[in-house]
Amino acid sequence: MIRQAKGKTPRRPPPKKPSNNQKDPVGVYCRVRPLGADDEECCIEVISNTTIQLHAPDGLKANRNGEFKETQYSFKKVFGIKTSQRELFEDVAKPLVEDLIHCKNGLLFTYGVTGSGKTYTMTGSPGQGGLLPRSLDMIFNSIGPYQAKRYVFKPDDKNGMEVQNQVDALLDRQKRDSQTTVPKTPTTRRIDPEFADMISPEEACKADGVDEDSSYSVFVSYIEIYNNYIYDLLEETPFDPIKPKPPQSKILREDQNHNMYVAGCTEVEVKSTEEAFEVFWRGQKKRRIANTQLNRESSRSHSVFIVKLAQAPLDADGDNVLQDKNQVNVSQLCLVDLAGSERTSRTRAEGSRLREAGNINQSLMTLRTCIEVLRENQMCGTNKMVPYRDSKVTHLFKNYFDGEGKVRMVVCVNPKADDYEETLLVMRFAEMTQEVEVARPVDRPICGFAAGRRQRNQAFKEELTRRLEERGGPVDGEFPTVLNQLLQSFPPLPPCEISGPNDDVTLPRLIEALEKRHKIRQMMIEEYNKTANMLKSVLQEQDSNILSKENFIQEQRGKLGEKDKMIQNQKNEIDRLEKKSKMLEYKIDILQKTTNIYEEDKRSLQQELESREQRLQRELSEKRRMESRMQGMVTDAKLKWEKECERRVNAKQLEMQNKLWVKDEKLKQLKAIVTEGKTENRQPQRPSREKDKVPPKRSASPSPVPTGPPVRPLHRRSHSAGGERWVDHKPTSNVDLDTVLQPNIPNAIKVNAPNEKALSKCDKYVLTHQEVASDGEIQTKLIKGEVFKTRGGGQSVQFTDIETLKQENPVAASSRKRRSSEADPDAEPMEGDWTDVETRCSVAVEMRAGSNLGPGYQHHGYPKRRKP
Ligand code: ADP
Ligand code: MG
Repeated sequence: MIRQAKGKTPRRPPPKKPSNNQKDPVGVYCRVRPLGADDEECCIEVISNTTIQLHAPDGLKANRNGEFKETQYSFKKVFGIKTSQRELFEDVAKPLVEDLIHCKNGLLFTYGVTGSGKTYTMTGSPGQGGLLPRSLDMIFNSIGPYQAKRYVFKPDDKNGMEVQNQVDALLDRQKRDSQTTVPKTPTTRRIDPEFADMISPEEACKADGVDEDSSYSVFVSYIEIYNNYIYDLLEETPFDPIKPKPPQSKILREDQNHNMYVAGCTEVEVKSTEEAFEVFWRGQKKRRIANTQLNRESSRSHSVFIVKLAQAPLDADGDNVLQDKNQVNVSQLCLVDLAGSERTSRTRAEGSRLREAGNINQSLMTLRTCIEVLRENQMCGTNKMVPYRDSKVTHLFKNYFDGEGKVRMVVCVNPKADDYEETLLVMRFAEMTQEVEVARPVDRPICGFAAGRRQRNQAFKEELTRRLEERGGPVDGEFPTVLNQLLQSFPPLPPCEISGPNDDVTLPRLIEALEKRHKIRQMMIEEYNKTANMLKSVLQEQDSNILSKENFIQEQRGKLGEKDKMIQNQKNEIDRLEKKSKMLEYKIDILQKTTNIYEEDKRSLQQELESREQRLQRELSEKRRMESRMQGMVTDAKLKWEKECERRVNAKQLEMQNKLWVKDEKLKQLKAIVTEGKTENRQPQRPSREKDKVPPKRSASPSPVPTGPPVRPLHRRSHSAGGERWVDHKPTSNVDLDTVLQPNIPNAIKVNAPNEKALSKCDKYVLTHQEVASDGEIQTKLIKGEVFKTRGGGQSVQFTDIETLKQENPVAASSRKRRSSEADPDAEPMEGDWTDVETRCSVAVEMRAGSNLGPGYQHHGYPKRRKP
C-alpha cells in the first residue's frame, strides 16, 4: 500500500491504463462433479491436483478407426468430486474477495457444458453454499462493523459513487422506512427457505487488513444476458396483471475509467449477507418467472451478479464519512454463471429456440475468439483487434482484459462419457485461457488522515457516556443526575392552575416564567455550543498534534530502518573484512614460514659460499706460491742454461781457434823444415803468458788469425823413465766422489792451490777439475800439462792433455744408450775413453797454446811480482 504521508490531497481517479507492468495469467481451475448415476460411463480421471486425463468413450473409439485417445489437461488446480464448496471457495474466491476489500476488481466465471455443475459451483444449494453466497458472507464478515449508514453512499448514473450529506441520507432512510415493510436489519438467517443455511456460521470467513478508518457500503446488481440482450433482474417494475410488460433490455456504457457498465441498472445497497441473499433470490425468482413466461431455457443465459464495494475514509474526527467524492473508492467483483457451452446440435432445439441457442453459442464463440486473439497478441507481440464488442458478455468484461483486474475461471466438467466431445472442447478452451495474462491491479493510495480514527472516536464516546453516568447515577430509574441538576437550575414554575375565567395572572406569569426558562435554555445552548466548539477545536488540535507526532514517529521509524539497514550492511562488511583479514593472516603465516625456509637456505648457501671462497683463496694463494716457485725455478734453470750455453759457445770458439792455430802452426813447422838451414835455431813462438793475461771476450767470435806461437820452454827437465814428478792439484771445492777409479799418481806433490815451490820441483802438472755436465752428472777432468822454466826464473805450465772421467747413473746411462744412434753433439765419450787421436792431439796442442779454458784450466806458477 502506498501511504500518502501528509496533507489532504484529493484522491485522483484511478489510472485509465494499468500503471504497473506486472501481469498474472488468468487463473483457471477445474472442478469435476460426481457422476449422476453409478452405472454411467466415465471419461475423466483426475491424475493429480493439477492434471486431468480424458479417455475417449468406447463408442467413440470404434468410430475413429479404433484409435485410443487419451489427453491430459493441466490447470492451476484440479478439484475432484470430493471437493467441498468451502475448499473451492478458499482457493478460488477468497483471494478475490480480499482484493475487493482492498479496492481491486475481480472477475470470476464458471464455464462448462450444461449440467456440469456451474450453477452448483456459483450458487450452490441449501447447506452447500456456492462461491457467491460465501463471497457475500465474507465481505460482510470483514466490513460489518465499519459499514456506513444506508444512503451515505449513493451511486451516480455513471458507474460512480457519491457521498451524501448526513441530512439527505437521513431523509432517504426515513423515506425508505415509510415505504417498505421489510425489517431494517434481518435478525435471522432464515428469511427464505430457499437460501436458508447456505453457510454454516462456523465456516464464516473474514478478510485481513481491513482499513478500519474507512466506511464501507455494498451494492449489488444482478443481470442476465440472454440472446445478446441485457436484462436487469433487480428492476422493480410495476406489476400489471392484465398485460405484463416484457422486460426491457439495457445497454452498455463505458465510464471515465474505461470500465463497462449496464446503464440504468439497479444497484441495491445491502447491509448484511442475508439482505444480499434476499436480493439475489429476488433476482433469481424474476429470472425464473421470465424464463417460464417467455419459454426460455435458463441454461442458455449468462447470469452476472455484480458486487460493488464503495469505501471512503472517515473524516479527521473518525465520526463521519469524508464528504469528498474523490476520496470514494469503488471496486467490484463480478460473479458470472455462463451459459452451457454445448453446441447447437446437442440442445435439440427447434424453431426460435434454435436461433437462441445459436446466439448463445455465438457469445461463447466470441469469448473464445477474444481469448485467442488476446493470447496471440500477448505471445507474439501483435496488436490485433480483440472483438469484445461482438457480444455483450465480452464487451461487459472488456476492461478486465484490457485494463487491470484479477480474472479466474472455474471449468466445470461432468465426467460422463456422453459429454466427452463437449468436454474436450471445454478443456481446450480452458487450457488456452490460462495463457492469457491480465495486468495486476495496483494498490490504491489511502487518504492522509491519522490511522485509528474510528477507534479513538469510539473510545471517546464510550468515555463520555461513562463519565456522565458517573456524575449522576440514575434518578427515578430514568434520568441521569446531570439532567436533574440541569432541571433544578431553572427557576421554578409558578403555580399554573387557573383559578377562574378572569384569572389574568396565572397565564401571563406562566408565560413569563416559561420565557425566562426559554431564555436560560437559549443561553445554555449557546454556552453548550461554545464549549462544544472549544472542545472540538481542542480535540482537532490534539488530533493534528497526534497526526504530526505520528508522522514524526513514522519518519523516525523510516530513519531507524535505514540505520538498521546501514548497520546490517556494515556488519556484513565487517564480516567480510574479518574473513578477508583471517585469510590474509593465514597467507602471511604461510609466507612467514616460506621466508624462514628461504632464509635458512640462504644462510646455508652463504656458509657454503664462504667456505668455497676460502678454499678458492687458499687455492689461489697456493697457486701463486707455486707460480712464484716455478718462476724461481724457471729463472734458475734459465740462468744456469744461459751460463752453460755461454760456456759451451766459448769452448767451441776456443776449440775452433785452436784448430785454426794448430793448422797454422803445422803449416809454419812445415815451412821451417823446408827452410831449416837458414833458421835452424828458430823455434816456433808461443804467445807468452803475459800476453794472454787478458782473456778474449767470451762472446766474441773466434779470431781467424792465431794469436801467436806458444813459447817454447827454454829449459826442459830431464826425463828419466818413470822418474816424472807430478804436481797433483785438487781444489778444495772438489767433492769426494767415492768412485772406484780414482786418479792416483805415485810420488806426486798434492796441492790445493798451485805454488811455485811445488812447480819448481816437478815437471808435470795435473788438475783435477770437477764440473756439472750437461746431463746433470758430475764429471771430473784431469787436465795435464808440462812444467817449464821461464826465462824470468818462474814456472810455466803448458797443458798437454785433458782426461775426462765421468761418473754415470746406470739408469740414465741405459736411457742414453738407447738413443745412441742419435747424433748427440753433447754426448761425451765413456769414462776415461779418449776420442780420436786428432782430438786428443788437438786438445794437447790447445792446452799448450795456453787457451782460455777459464780460470780452472790455466794455472801459472809464476813467481809473484815477476814480470817478463
Ligand atoms: P449447470 O449449471 O452447469 O448446468 P448444475 O449446477 O445445475 O449444472 O448441476 C446439475 C446437477 O448436478 C445439479 O443437480 C447439482 O446439484 C449437481 N451437481 C453439480 N455439481 C455437483 C457437485 N460438485 N457435487 C454434487 N452435485 C453436483
Ligand atoms: Mg446452470
